[in-house]
Amino acid sequence: MPVPGPRPRPGILEISPYVGGKAEAAGGAPAVKLSANENPLGPSPAAIAAYRAEAQRLHRYPDGACTTLKAAIGRRFNLDPARIVCGAGSDELIGLLVRAYAGPGEEILHSAHGFLMYRLAALAAGALPVAAPERDLKADVDALLARVTSRTRIVFLANPNNPTGSYLTGEELRRLHAGLPDDVLLVVDAAYAEYVSAPDYDSGLALALEQPNVVMTRTFSKLFGLAALRVGWLVGPPAVVDVLERTRGPFNVGQPGQAAAVAALDDLEHQAAAKAHNDRWLPWLRDQLSSLGLIVHPSVANFLLVEFPREPGRDARAAEAWLERHGIIPRAMGAYGLPDALRISIGLEADNRRVVEVLAAFLHSAPHAGVL
Ligand SMILES: *Cc1c(COP(=O)(O)O)cnc(C)c1O
Repeated sequence: MPVPGPRPRPGILEISPYVGGKAEAAGGAPAVKLSANENPLGPSPAAIAAYRAEAQRLHRYPDGACTTLKAAIGRRFNLDPARIVCGAGSDELIGLLVRAYAGPGEEILHSAHGFLMYRLAALAAGALPVAAPERDLKADVDALLARVTSRTRIVFLANPNNPTGSYLTGEELRRLHAGLPDDVLLVVDAAYAEYVSAPDYDSGLALALEQPNVVMTRTFSKLFGLAALRVGWLVGPPAVVDVLERTRGPFNVGQPGQAAAVAALDDLEHQAAAKAHNDRWLPWLRDQLSSLGLIVHPSVANFLLVEFPREPGRDARAAEAWLERHGIIPRAMGAYGLPDALRISIGLEADNRRVVEVLAAFLHSAPHAGVL
């Protein structure tokens, strides 16, 4: 029966609202949150101080042009600030790009297990999200190119990808770009770029500077530890920057967020500590979980995608419930089409050790223990 009252555009009611990583275990008991790929070391002390210092000025509108923040990003990455757009998280920038470049009857292309926001942003704009199959949980350049049609407006690539942790090499990225028509925008979402050490990785920054149809997005939510403040940015061709400057809200990034982001960017020591922590514990957790017999997909980011056997009592659902009962919150992956997997962020040392201990007990407790 039709609901009385105003009706949204087609596509809107197909959206299942994005559900962030849970912050509490069932029953509200305190728990270790490993469900949202946040920085386990917390924010930089300098960022906290900068945030606090803004408290006396909360009655003032923020600098809508993010002048100081763009200058700081420009210095750090050797970029012309005029090529930068800041947003309330990179999520806002994803939405702005889709709304500006796509609409009803047009297509947004992403890989099958790509970051969920691309699909949601497409539906919100009335556009059609199109998923290209992956190969071994990795974006497949040929499969993506094969799905480009005259209706394709944007190709989104998270590199590295959340939730799979896989990445395309610079060479693969360039091949993807080379195969796209000039009027298709390639958005390289490099939210985890700071974590990647692989020499063949390319965040897409150079492409975004060289090409008229490439942008790269970054965020202060992950390595920089400022997820609560919602600050992201992108670099792109002048024409795309111009479009976003026309369509964004005039004060889309709050001043405490801008100030904290500038301070976080200057705190190289905190960034290095976060990277070193991840470099130590990502391989450790991967090896420990593998030796429990679980399938752990290779990851270059700050989380692991862990696959559980498809057996009642030992599957991902049971593992999720068990972890929560023992005070650890992973991220279930059903919404990503990966119902057999959980995504587990790298935590503090004690958290990581606890994950191994709790999952070892889980596998031991399950029926037919030892068959793995
Ligand atoms: C976390 C994440 C983001 C979101 O970042 P915000 O800046 O917090 O909006 C974007 N892309 C990917 C792939 C992510 O995992």
